[in-house]
Amino acid sequence: MTRPIRVEIDLSAIRHNYLHSRQHAQSKQVIAVLKANAYGHGVLDTAKALADCADGFALLNIEDAVLLRDAGLKQPITLLEGPFDQAEATAMAEYQLAGAVHSPQQIAWLAKGSGAKIPEAWLKVNSGMNRLGFQPQEVEEALSALRALPAVRLTTIMTHFSSADDDYGVTEQWRRFAPLAAASGLKISAANSAALFRHPHTHGDIARPGIVLYGSSPFDGSTGADLGLKPAMTLSADIIAVQDIPAGEAVGYGRRFISDKPMRIGIVACGYADGYPRVAANGTPVAVDGQKSGTVGRVSMDMLAVDLSHLPQSGVGSRVELWGPQVPIEQVAASAGTLGYELMCAVAVRVPRVKRD
Ligand SMILES: *Cc1c(COP(=O)(O)O)cnc(C)c1O
Repeated sequence: MTRPIRVEIDLSAIRHNYLHSRQHAQSKQVIAVLKANAYGHGVLDTAKALADCADGFALLNIEDAVLLRDAGLKQPITLLEGPFDQAEATAMAEYQLAGAVHSPQQIAWLAKGSGAKIPEAWLKVNSGMNRLGFQPQEVEEALSALRALPAVRLTTIMTHFSSADDDYGVTEQWRRFAPLAAASGLKISAANSAALFRHPHTHGDIARPGIVLYGSSPFDGSTGADLGLKPAMTLSADIIAVQDIPAGEAVGYGRRFISDKPMRIGIVACGYADGYPRVAANGTPVAVDGQKSGTVGRVSMDMLAVDLSHLPQSGVGSRVELWGPQVPIEQVAASAGTLGYELMCAVAVRVPRVKRD
């Protein structure tokens, strides 16, 4: 017997979402952001699923890039934070990787040269996120420094938006970035998922969607389905016990739920050690055998409880979808005060993975 929990990855949904996103893109190219193990979906499986349609991949770790290259994938790969040390700058050339260049230190690493092969640089501009990148007034100098390096191919200028998904929007960041980008004569890359769907004037040459590929909406209060996307990840687990309780009984740690009527409670083989958020509120949506229900009480390490009072047919062995096509991950996330992004990335290694093509 194995513990009845699994995370299913629907690779055909990821392909659908990529192609659907591309229809929204005004840019010539759309590269798939596969950082954080493809937002928990598996970096190699996802890259392979997109190999014949994606214009390229964006990653964080050079180890992932090497994994893809060793698997025979030849698509353009960009490291979103560039090299983290001299050795990575050298490896960028060896593995034919592009990388963001956001600091003078990275320019120094690239300047040391790397033999016959030449790495590709994407100059990163800090247009207001204030995380990585050169300030607008530093851009000219950084561009000249990179242009002075014969062993670097400078192709692209990039920035990243802090608020493409909310009411603040991209106006101010675009005002700072667009003139510099146009003057550089380089390819332009700025749009994340939210900008891809909401701010077409920022698409430039290369869009960089992440979350939408996995079928989730970057916008508060909407779901992937609202954008024509298909959820690619389904987390589900089975009911392993049932408790019939009278009114006035508590369920779970800390007595955070007290029944106000007789209830039938199902105990599900999924807890926060599997990646389900411990802080999810009472009533966080689930689907039991395809029927809507909600969580009851605090999530434990290895279990959580759901209400079966209105589902007399369901019991031990019933399958509970925790998020997926029937239970939008955005709603679970909202109920836990976080985002679908975090839930996808947090599914634990101990949860068995099943992939479907
Ligand atoms: C994560 C990331 C993206 C993709 O963001 P989504 O909101 O998932 O579309 C794009 N660009 C950079 C630099 C990123 O770090």
